[in-house]
Amino acid sequence: MTDRNIRSILIVGGGTAGWMTAATLSRILGPDYAKITLVESDEIGIIGVGEATIPQMATFNRMLGLDEDQFVRETKGSFKLGIQFVNWGRAGHRYFHPFGKYGLDMKGVSFHAYYLRLRQLGEAPDVDEWSLQAMAARDDKFMRAIDAGNSPLSDIAYAYHFDAGLYAKFLRRYAEDKGVTRREGKIVDVKLRSEDGFVQSVQLEDGSHLEADLFIDCSGFRGLIIEQALKAGYTDWSQYLPCNRAIAVPCASVDAWTPYTRSTAHTAGWQWRIPLQHRIGNGHVFCSDYMSDDEATAILMSNLDGEPLADPRTVPFKTGHRNRMWVKNCVAMGLSGGFLEPLESTSIWLIQSGLSRFLTMFPDRDFNQADIDRYNRIMQTDYEEIRDFLVLHYHATERTDSPFWDYCRTMEIPERLAEKMRVFRTHGRAFRENEELFNDTSWFAVMLGQLMEPASHDPVADVMPLAETRERLAHIREAIANSADYMPKHRDFIREHCAA
Ligand code: FAD
Repeated sequence: MTDRNIRSILIVGGGTAGWMTAATLSRILGPDYAKITLVESDEIGIIGVGEATIPQMATFNRMLGLDEDQFVRETKGSFKLGIQFVNWGRAGHRYFHPFGKYGLDMKGVSFHAYYLRLRQLGEAPDVDEWSLQAMAARDDKFMRAIDAGNSPLSDIAYAYHFDAGLYAKFLRRYAEDKGVTRREGKIVDVKLRSEDGFVQSVQLEDGSHLEADLFIDCSGFRGLIIEQALKAGYTDWSQYLPCNRAIAVPCASVDAWTPYTRSTAHTAGWQWRIPLQHRIGNGHVFCSDYMSDDEATAILMSNLDGEPLADPRTVPFKTGHRNRMWVKNCVAMGLSGGFLEPLESTSIWLIQSGLSRFLTMFPDRDFNQADIDRYNRIMQTDYEEIRDFLVLHYHATERTDSPFWDYCRTMEIPERLAEKMRVFRTHGRAFRENEELFNDTSWFAVMLGQLMEPASHDPVADVMPLAETRERLAHIREAIANSADYMPKHRDFIREHCAA
């Protein structure tokens, strides 16, 4: 230890971001490096709507050393193989964005190229048939990968749905066991040091002050320190992602436990459906320029599977991010850093990536500005890349049935996305750019799913004789169908391994 090391850390907020931060720092730094305190207000509570995730969440759980069955049991969670999109390309149309890859490795040429070659000859059915995740989801099936050689069953990518309130409690127990101190109380003021504007302490309603070397702002949309005290500023992306409100309501479960999130487009936004063990989470994300709260609520309530279990709750938001997520001795994690709407369940991943990037740039008390600048630049790129993927869903649509969709279809889009779309439209090529979150399978699934039809296929696919291409793709398709048949029902799998 040097005498410039961080000695105390104050995490402000106890939602998903606050407790993920507390769990991570207590795990990685251990009990003796720095004193870690988390302060949260029971009166304010948490947003409690982040319930769907992506496969990278398993990496986070592994880093913490969590037992997956226990995690699913205690959060009354379920498994997720992808997202079903309904009414997005056009009313009545649906497609599946699966986790994992389509097909198998095809000796250096992407599977997508061979698939498109057959599709353009009118010989290939729905691309879902080459995704084990999509085929299992069709039949409400789920299992974890097993050691089965070349079988598709050896590689099953999945994520989770969970109850956000239970997740915060679960991580709280974990972090407290590792020495994190929790303080209940409402912060009413933030004190900055007069000499350099660094955060000195926060003041609670009862008059006490909490000091620290490092502050992690997990206070949610309000950005208590990062914005209200440090004035980080906000980049507003409403021109690309115009939805700005959500109405959320849980409802009773139904018999089939679907192992996927469903996103159903409506006339001014879309509705999520997230199945948990004890209820289904639902919400209608919409743009208030095109729809009133009453209308959005009525649409939501008339599209539930079961009885509502609570009154609908409205959550206003603005998509975008803080201009700087790390300012002086304060880093924003979670909603205090920014928000991209939950269409591809990326917010919890952004907390995860924020934490892992922060740990690679962990400061001492000198707070090197070059490290801070690098962190801010990388996080901004993460946000921009995800933004572009989300915008694709809205922009590549044939819907002409409402002013909202007219706006989305004709809006100006970021140049990086425009280029990806041009490249796909010619030869059907989809790429993962640098280290961006979504890979070529995701781009391919959503571009094709949103009814973008390439003019031609990648000419490299012609290296394989047509008869051989047909034979290989038929073989893979059959292996996937057999594997999906073999899998148990999602509900049975949960009952056997991780029922609450
Ligand atoms: P919050 O949950 O709001 O927590 C803020 C904390 O700060 C609370 O503990 C609060 O008490 C505390 N606090 C605030 N002010 C004070 C104060 N003055 N004094 C003391 N304590 C204070 N993400 C996904 O990954 N998947 C999804 O499916 C998904 N769906 C979403 C749907 C909607 C409509 C929205 C809005 C978000 C969704 N998200 C989703 C995002 C996800 O909910 C958040 O990223 C996640 O919950 C983290 O929230 P948070 O901890 O930053 O904020």
